[in-house]
Formats: sequence, structure tokens, C-alpha cells
Amino acid sequence: MQRAQIVRIEQHHALVRSFFLVPEQPVPFVAGQFVAIAMEAGGTERSYSIANRPGNAELELCISLKPDGYMSPALFAMKPGDTLYLSEARGSFTLPADGTEVCMICTGTGIAPFRSMLLDALQKGDTRKFYLISGNRYAAEALYHAEMTALAARYPNFCYLPTLSREEAAGIAHGYVHPIYEQLFTDGRDARFLVCGWTAMLSETRRKLKEMGYNRRQYFFESYDG
Ligand SMILES: Cc1cc2nc3c(=O)[nH]c(=O)nc-3n(C[C@H](O)[C@H](O)[C@H](O)COP(=O)(O)OP(=O)(O)OC[C@H]3O[C@@H](n4cnc5c(N)ncnc54)[C@H](O)[C@@H]3O)c2cc1C
Repeated sequence: MQRAQIVRIEQHHALVRSFFLVPEQPVPFVAGQFVAIAMEAGGTERSYSIANRPGNAELELCISLKPDGYMSPALFAMKPGDTLYLSEARGSFTLPADGTEVCMICTGTGIAPFRSMLLDALQKGDTRKFYLISGNRYAAEALYHAEMTALAARYPNFCYLPTLSREEAAGIAHGYVHPIYEQLFTDGRDARFLVCGWTAMLSETRRKLKEMGYNRRQYFFESYDG
């Protein structure tokens, strides 16, 4: 692990903040990977997806506060200028190399690796079809909503599909993420499903994708419960 400085903190809403870190040595990563952080060398670690695209000196981590937790309350008490410890980039939850269309499904901060993948792929001119189905409870909690809306307006091969489970809002679907991909893929065509977030949503999505006839070569999961 190496030392990294928090250079900036941006609040998305009361329970989610982006922490911008500059490590002493650059951390090369592939979009979709995560880093582990610790408060001191050799201390307890927690993993966080890298939310920005590769090629920046800064790493952005988009973190939700678990008030009874260990790491997230400690992080939410930190300020720009404070330092912590950071691992190398880890994990294999990255965009499949083939050109098959990709359906990304997430809730809450599960959007982080998808933001990195989309910014990277679209700006590099990747022309395959991308869907991002992003579920939140309330409109105020929809992370990167303006940015994803703008990205979808700019790239015809990217379709942004936000949904809110506890609030109705203009231009946003109402309900959970599941009916959206069920309706999009009723024809059972080949696709790669990338799913990120907490276990309950992941298990339900895996069950539904299996029912729809998809298999382990077509779906990939990043579980935030470890
Ligand atoms: C690959 C990966 C990537 C991740 N990326 C992100 C990300 O981008 N953003 C993000 O916000 N999170 C991410 N996570 C989750 C993150 O690693 C932490 O799990 C999360 O921040 C909670 O850590 P914590 O130390 O604050 O809470 P913890 O101490 O781990 O506790 C988590 C929750 O469990 C409850 N809890 C704790 N102990 C107990 C107990 N004994 N009994 C019952 N309940 C208990 C707490 O009340 C709390 O609500 C990722 C996880 C993985 C594995």
C-alpha cells in the first residue's frame, strides 16, 4: 500500500461523497477496477470502485456512508489534505473485449465502475451499444444523473435508463431496475450483462437473467458485500 492525499471532496447528497485522491505513485488501472484503502499501513481495508476514467493523476471514489460502519464514517470525517493508504488497482470487473452490446445494471454507488467504463469507452470511440440501468430511491440520490443524461445525448450508442423506486419524477422511470432489462431483452438476444451493487439486488438480477435464458458467459457481477 502507498500513501495518498485527499485533494478534494464533493458531496452528491447527505449520504454519498466523492473523494478525490492523489497517490504518491500513479495507480494504473483498467476502467471498472477497484482499490482497497486503509487508514494506516497494515490497517483494516475496504474496497472502493474507481469512478473516473483511467489516465488521471487523481482517483475518484464515490462512497456511501454506512453510519454504523467502520471505514465510511472515518472517511466522512476526513478533510482535503488528510492522507490515507491505497492499494494497487484490483479486480477483473471490466468491459468484455468482444463487441457484443452491454447492459449495465446498478443501484446507488454501484454506478461507480460503470461511469469509469462509459467515460473511457465512449470517449475512445467504442461503438457497441451500451445501456446503463441505474436504480435509486429518490431523484436527489441519482448519482451522476446530469452527466449520464448529457453523455446519452452526445453518443447515440449509449442509452441511459434511470429509475426511482420511491418517487415519481419527470423523464425517469418509476420502479426497480428489473422490469427495465426484462423488457429490453425479451427477445433473448446475445448481450453482456454487468451488474454492480449490494447482494440483494445482485441475487435477484442473477435469478432473473437465468430465467431469461442467459448464462455465466453473459453475466458478470461485482458484489459490494465482498
Ligand atoms: C469490490 C468492491 C467495490 C466496492 N466499491 C464501493 C464503492 O464504489 N462505493 C461504496 O460506497 N462502497 C463500495 N464497496 C463497499 C465498501 O467496501 C464497504 O463495504 C462499505 O463502504 C462499508 O464499509 P464500512 O467499513 O463503512 O462498514 P462496515 O463496518 O463494513 O459495515 C457495513 C454495514 O454493516 C453493518 N454492520 C457492521 N457490522 C455488523 C455486525 N456485526 N452485524 C450486523 N451488521 C453489521 C453496519 O451497520 C453497516 O451498515 C465496495 C465493495 C467491494 C467488495
